[in-house]
Amino acid sequence: MVVLDGKVTSAKIRQELAIRVKDLKAQGKKIPHLAAILVGEDGASRTYVNAKVRDCEEVGFGSTLIKLPAETTEAELLKAIGKLNNDDDIDGYIVQLPLPQHIDETKVLLAVDPKKDVDGFHPQNVGKMTLNLPTYIPATPQGIVELLRRYEVPTEGKNCVVIGRSHIVGSPMSILLSQHNYPGNCTVTLCHSRTQDLEDICRNADIIVAALGRPGFVTPDMVKEGACVIDVGITRIDDSTKKSGFRLLGDVDYEAVAPKCSFITPVPGGVGPMTRAALMMNTMKVTELGEE
Ligand code: NAD
Repeated sequence: MVVLDGKVTSAKIRQELAIRVKDLKAQGKKIPHLAAILVGEDGASRTYVNAKVRDCEEVGFGSTLIKLPAETTEAELLKAIGKLNNDDDIDGYIVQLPLPQHIDETKVLLAVDPKKDVDGFHPQNVGKMTLNLPTYIPATPQGIVELLRRYEVPTEGKNCVVIGRSHIVGSPMSILLSQHNYPGNCTVTLCHSRTQDLEDICRNADIIVAALGRPGFVTPDMVKEGACVIDVGITRIDDSTKKSGFRLLGDVDYEAVAPKCSFITPVPGGVGPMTRAALMMNTMKVTELGEE
């Protein structure tokens, strides 16, 4: 069994990006500049955004964090987005989700300039991804694909089951793994909350991607001997023994499932750090896609 180590792999990606930034600097070219908008005080969102800013610093990108209060109106947020769209120094930006309830997420995503949409959530970029055209790919699925590539996990002709059909993880994951690429060329089944006989479907999978947000959902009886299991789930559970006050649980019962696997991602230290690395890769891509 091989542990797909997202922590080690993402550190390597950041090192590679830092070298490319140095090259850009040496050639007198523009260094990518990533901005992030954070609305409100959600603890997890704040942690994620701060980590993204730290990643930018580590690889040498410029970074700008725009913090707006929870009471920010939709109009005020759209104005802040308009400003970023028109700021030539900002190459790409993200609007950290979830947004407060009174703000229409779709309206916000549509307002982002697709050329600066490093999260890859704008319909124009989703369309390009679906057609296998060069674009920004949502960070979590891209991070997973990168992890599979770097560990040379066989995917061609494999049965892959993706559990969860969200627009940011499950749905794009199912598209990417079914495309004529490596990693890809899988026969993909996309499962969700209305799927029947999910356990049976999983038992036939060579690759399982669990992205539903239910701790320990995938148990050994659902996993074929030798399968590759990718655990996307992150659920925070209060834990007073931890400095942070919480611990993170994945969607897979890791201890019980791991012995059956050929490859498996841990939580934490698997898909999470790869998601952050993929955002940095997308930000670097800004320069390359801009030249097309
Ligand atoms: P979501 O809530 O938007 O979607 C969950 C999906 O799971 C839905 O499509 C739903 O149909 C499906 N689902 C729910 N219960 C099910 C069941 N019993 N059987 C089958 N399908 C079921 O979630 P999301 O945003 O895609 O996130 C999923 C998990 O991944 C969460 O734990 C989230 O925190 C985590 N996540 C992790 C990263 C990372 O970087 N590691 C990034 C994004 C999300």
